[in-house]
Amino acid sequence: MADKKFYTLPELPYAYNALEPHISEAQLRIHHDKHHAAYVNGANSILERLEKAREAGDDLDMKSTLKDLSFQAGGHVLHSLFWSNLTAAAKAAEEPGGALADALKREFGSFARFKKEFSLAAATAEGSGWAALAWCAMTKRPLIMQIEKHNVNVYPMFRILMVLDVWEHAYYLDYKNERPKFVEAFWKIVDWDEVNRRLEAAIK
Ligand code: MN
Repeated sequence: MADKKFYTLPELPYAYNALEPHISEAQLRIHHDKHHAAYVNGANSILERLEKAREAGDDLDMKSTLKDLSFQAGGHVLHSLFWSNLTAAAKAAEEPGGALADALKREFGSFARFKKEFSLAAATAEGSGWAALAWCAMTKRPLIMQIEKHNVNVYPMFRILMVLDVWEHAYYLDYKNERPKFVEAFWKIVDWDEVNRRLEAAIK
């Protein structure tokens, strides 16, 4: 197993207090250091379990194992995307420029309309989930996904450009039950340059 690569918890690309007052240091610490870390460890322990079963020739409950792996690995991937599409409010632009601005305008009519649809997707995700902006390579069009948990309603092969975590663990310390307030705060700390870079990579 020594030669196989496992998932690792990425460091945040900014200080823990960098997103204040929109996301507090305490909220960001517990979200990154505890919740995200748990998905990394969860995914790795399933990979180890699969490896051991292969070595021993044991049977597996394939259905539950793969369902859990999808949940844990999906959680790791989405959180990694989330941290890097955020930035300190002082560095964040209100709206994107570049290719992203053009693509959103073409698809949604205006940035304001996109913001409204994405906010609604985030606010209405049932239970634990995410809103995501993705890129369809077949139609060359952006599309909003409302992801349940970390892995349900994800479109295969669509490139994810931007995500917003609306699990309660993402905002409860700062906003209690008021998810729409957290969604509103999110718009003040989006790193549009990063979202544009992801779009440019997806279009290539
Ligand atoms: Mn989360």
